[in-house]
Amino acid sequence: MGIEIRELEGDTMRILITDTNPAFANSIRRAILQEIPVMAVDEVDVAANDSVMNDEILVHRLGQVPLHTPDGYRLPRECDCTDGRCPKCSVTLTLEKEGPGIIKTGDLESSDEEVVPVSDSIPLTRLDEGQNLEFTAIARLGFGKDHANWQPAVVAYKFMPIFELDEDACTACGDCIDACPKNILEIEDDEVKITNIEKCTMCLACIDSCPEDAINIDHDPTKVILKIESTGAMPPDQLLEKATEVLEDKCKEFAKKTKKL
Ligand SMILES: [Zn+2]
Repeated sequence: MGIEIRELEGDTMRILITDTNPAFANSIRRAILQEIPVMAVDEVDVAANDSVMNDEILVHRLGQVPLHTPDGYRLPRECDCTDGRCPKCSVTLTLEKEGPGIIKTGDLESSDEEVVPVSDSIPLTRLDEGQNLEFTAIARLGFGKDHANWQPAVVAYKFMPIFELDEDACTACGDCIDACPKNILEIEDDEVKITNIEKCTMCLACIDSCPEDAINIDHDPTKVILKIESTGAMPPDQLLEKATEVLEDKCKEFAKKTKKL
């Protein structure tokens, strides 16, 4: 198996995995989506809310705000405290504001400066003159498999496309070049060439546009391009590393139990 980083910038990572199969790529994808604990608001005590947005919607919005998640926090079920409210397993985000104005994530005050919203500019609600908003939110670690609020990223993969050209049938008319939405086809020495096969989305527009039926698009299931777009809770390369640890632990446990059979 081979792994090459194709892109690693900000919250986005793209890797090429070779000598693999769809099941393995999907295991990585599902481990990232569901099995890596990150922080999210899951309890809110609303003391005052004069805004047009009702409490339930406001709390729902708060739950979906991605929070930076440092190492070191415990899962509430693994903590010594019984109520999931101690500093080892929870962070408090408070807000007290009077209108008018747009209330944004930057207005939240966290009990841990490392656990803050990934962006200060996410709007929460709007207050008019004289309206008040006051609440205490508690963020805890959780898993994407329990609620999407704890899903740390969007992960997708595709197979490596294969572009096949029947050179005898192709007249280099250029119709496919105009049809390709990714602009990755060109004519070089009277022959259609693909400039970056990894950008191909396999939309088949080139096939549809070719009057000579000279093009075929296929895919190679042993080569997978995996893309991770983190919410910002954790860097994407860290998510990938943690996902491999999750799978490693599962395999180790499985191996240990099969030996006991
Ligand atoms: Zn605790």
